[in-house]
Amino acid sequence: MSPKNRITKNNDGTLNVPDHPVIPYIEGDGIGPDIWNATRLVIDQSVKASFGREKSIQWLELYVGEKGFLKTGEYLSDKSLQTIQDHVVAIKGPLTTPVGKGFRSLNVAIRQKLDLYACVRPVRYIEPVPSPMKHPEKINMVVFRENTEDLYAGIEWQSGTDEAEKVISFLKDKMGVTIPEHAGIGIKPISEKNTKRLVTSAIQYAMEHHLPSVTLMHKGNIMKFTEGAFNLWGYEVAKEKFGEKTITESELYDQYHGKVPMGKIVIKDRIADMLFQQVLLRPEEFSVIATPNLNGDYISDALAAQVGGLGMAPGANIGDTCACFEATHGTAPKYAGLDKVNPSSLILSGAMMLEYMGWEDASERIRKALQDTVRSGIVTYDLARQIIGAKEVKCSEFAAAIAERL
Ligand code: NAP
Repeated sequence: MSPKNRITKNNDGTLNVPDHPVIPYIEGDGIGPDIWNATRLVIDQSVKASFGREKSIQWLELYVGEKGFLKTGEYLSDKSLQTIQDHVVAIKGPLTTPVGKGFRSLNVAIRQKLDLYACVRPVRYIEPVPSPMKHPEKINMVVFRENTEDLYAGIEWQSGTDEAEKVISFLKDKMGVTIPEHAGIGIKPISEKNTKRLVTSAIQYAMEHHLPSVTLMHKGNIMKFTEGAFNLWGYEVAKEKFGEKTITESELYDQYHGKVPMGKIVIKDRIADMLFQQVLLRPEEFSVIATPNLNGDYISDALAAQVGGLGMAPGANIGDTCACFEATHGTAPKYAGLDKVNPSSLILSGAMMLEYMGWEDASERIRKALQDTVRSGIVTYDLARQIIGAKEVKCSEFAAAIAERL
């Protein structure tokens, strides 16, 4: 495939997207093939509806996961990773974590090896999906979760191992810290460089999408030098890089009487536990949330539940050189091959991908058609069991119904 059909990235982060780009995809394990086929149909139809013959996507399959192991003997090859890097944008279905094969998780391995440091999860309500909230339509947030460090970096040692005992002795002898006997040990690194690049991408996103605020979510009242430092570095980078475009919440009240000046983004922070309350009680006050890994894991699933669950939640892992768009749920093995599950999470991730490429018309078309389909009562089993009077259809039929409405 000629390199002229590759997406490339400029130094300022903007993309050059040819009219017929090659985009690598990973079908995924379990329900992956079902939701991928549904997604591919919807993306292709939407691009066609928006641009006719002027633009199209040339899909390039990467053999990763169980299919990769069967075809190549490897679950995740360096060649696949290099291909994603070379093509800048990729999309993937869910992958099973092979037990005892040297991976903590293939998904985590992809994020870490490609340095996809921002996990971006938009959360928006799709009517009439049942939600535990009285006003789920007030939720319109995007979580930027740091992907490469914090407790999720995986630096930990099992209780009773030589390594754990060595760390415990070091802490006791050299640092004067007492740890309970035979404790398991985990390390929580949070760095200035990784915090600042995450918060930078969150503020840039808010600017590009004309969003009113970026909230730094942290637990800095207790963990001052990790979570607290995340908060400080977040404010620092907002001032250093976006001083003209941002104001802090205290400046908003001290200098502007609580009225946001035109074109400014408010940078605020919330302690993690308080933010969990506030997104339930006053969701309209929050827009972009930037946070370390573990907080981000919790808040993004909690917010997805507030709008009706993970089945509809899209996501992307984005770094400086490339981005990988993916469903946020797993492989749901009991439904594999049954053409039954809800493909919305991967379809909406595809819509995010088109928006990232600058093909906004095709992206918006998908969101609208999916919303129209669900609103007309055509849904997969998971929603049919919750919406009275809805018509249950198969995964492929749901995709066809969306395609008809594009
Ligand atoms: P899961 O695959 O997300 O499935 C859990 C349950 O969620 C399903 O049984 C189903 O619930 C519901 N569900 C998931 N996807 C759905 C969809 N598209 N439509 C409708 N319902 C859906 O979680 P898991 O069983 O814990 O994990 C299975 C495997 O996936 C593991 O190997 C795990 O490592 C992997 N995983 C991969 C990723 C990823 O690739 N990013 C993420 C998470 C997990 P009901 O049975 O109630 O209908």
